[in-house]
Amino acid sequence: MILQSQHKEFQARVRRFAEQEVAPRARELDRTGEFPHDLVKRLAELQLTAVYVPKEYGGAGLDTLHYAIAVEEISRSCGSTGIFLAAHSSLGVFPIFFAGTEEQKRKWLIPLARGEKIGAFGLTEPDVGSDAAATRTTARIESDTYVINGTKRFITSGSIADVIIVTATQDPSKGYKGISAFVVEKGTPGFSYGKDEEKLGLHGSITSELVFEDCAIPRDNLLGSEGDGFRIFMETLDGGRISIGALALGIAQGALDAAVSFSKASKRSGKPLYKMQPVQSMIAEMATEIEAARLLIYHAAALKDSGLPYMKEAAMAKYYASTIGMKAANMAVDIHGLCGVTDAYPAERLMRDEKLMEIGEGTSEIQKIVIAREVLGK
Ligand SMILES: Cc1cc2nc3c(=O)[nH]c(=O)nc-3n(C[C@H](O)[C@H](O)[C@H](O)COP(=O)(O)OP(=O)(O)OC[C@H]3O[C@@H](n4cnc5c(N)ncnc54)[C@H](O)[C@@H]3O)c2cc1C
Repeated sequence: MILQSQHKEFQARVRRFAEQEVAPRARELDRTGEFPHDLVKRLAELQLTAVYVPKEYGGAGLDTLHYAIAVEEISRSCGSTGIFLAAHSSLGVFPIFFAGTEEQKRKWLIPLARGEKIGAFGLTEPDVGSDAAATRTTARIESDTYVINGTKRFITSGSIADVIIVTATQDPSKGYKGISAFVVEKGTPGFSYGKDEEKLGLHGSITSELVFEDCAIPRDNLLGSEGDGFRIFMETLDGGRISIGALALGIAQGALDAAVSFSKASKRSGKPLYKMQPVQSMIAEMATEIEAARLLIYHAAALKDSGLPYMKEAAMAKYYASTIGMKAANMAVDIHGLCGVTDAYPAERLMRDEKLMEIGEGTSEIQKIVIAREVLGK
């Protein structure tokens, strides 16, 4: 797919920012695990915190393809910054953009889209991951409030988010039809934090446990209607898969960049690494598969922008990009030899970061279930 000039210009602009301001921070964020608040501020200044949201709601007023390009370019330089951007834009911002009333959009969407507030999405629970329809967190009506009880786990930016979309069931016997989506604001009594996870990769991204104990929120914080939660999170996850695909793609491209530069800079027995046939073979495989993943992601984004069904294509994009991304990161380590497993080079960080892409936003097995269901007919 050939990018139009406006997409190419946008890509060049984001790449310049990422190379100059994000890439130099990647190693330090991985080592310290610090959250890059200053980079979030810069993303906001550059109108990257809600690329696809219309300008009237504080976004950049661009399309999903622009958004996928932004996530790819940022992640190529730093996966931790990339996942912040993807989670904030797709998981924190989107549900309100998709299902919020005008009043809710004015209250929460605008500051989120402008990057003045950080958004998060609480779906996963200690015993509820892939089967998100089995949510155990409950919401009951008490006078003019909903009272939420339960625990959410693995929530990106959870403990630093100002606005969190939380799924909860009002009637477990109704299965997915009993689930609703609510907006919970930081500081609400009854809302506290468990531990932030120590993860294999993406160390500069915060992954939190959120605890709700008789947490009363106004009735106005319901998104959509009661029972709409499943529809809202399915739509959120479909779009989110394009961004996680773009994130996996960016990390894979970063791995290829690292492998190319190492193979050009290093010699073995007096011969440059890049002249060795096995190295060239790995570079060719990585480059081809990365290009194929990019086409799948752009295609899914273009379908979404055209208002056409894209569930299958988004699942394919996320599944393929994370699978070949993991392979590319592994090859990048191999090309570096023993240097590849030391923290003097980025290859091992990229491999650790990429592994999480096969799990988050639905595992590869779940993506295959979605794809097969669409191919075979429901
Ligand atoms: C980096 C990262 C960020 C995340 N951010 C968020 C976030 O912001 N908000 C949020 O809500 N969640 C978030 N998550 C959680 C994520 O979405 C879940 O990890 C994911 O849905 C898988 O759930 P689980 O980890 O509980 O695995 P499980 O569902 O327990 O799966 C374990 C294994 O069983 C397999 N499996 C499970 N069910 C089936 C099935 N029906 N058929 C076949 N195989 C199956 C899986 O493929 C996997 O191999 C994040 C995860 C990661 C890695």
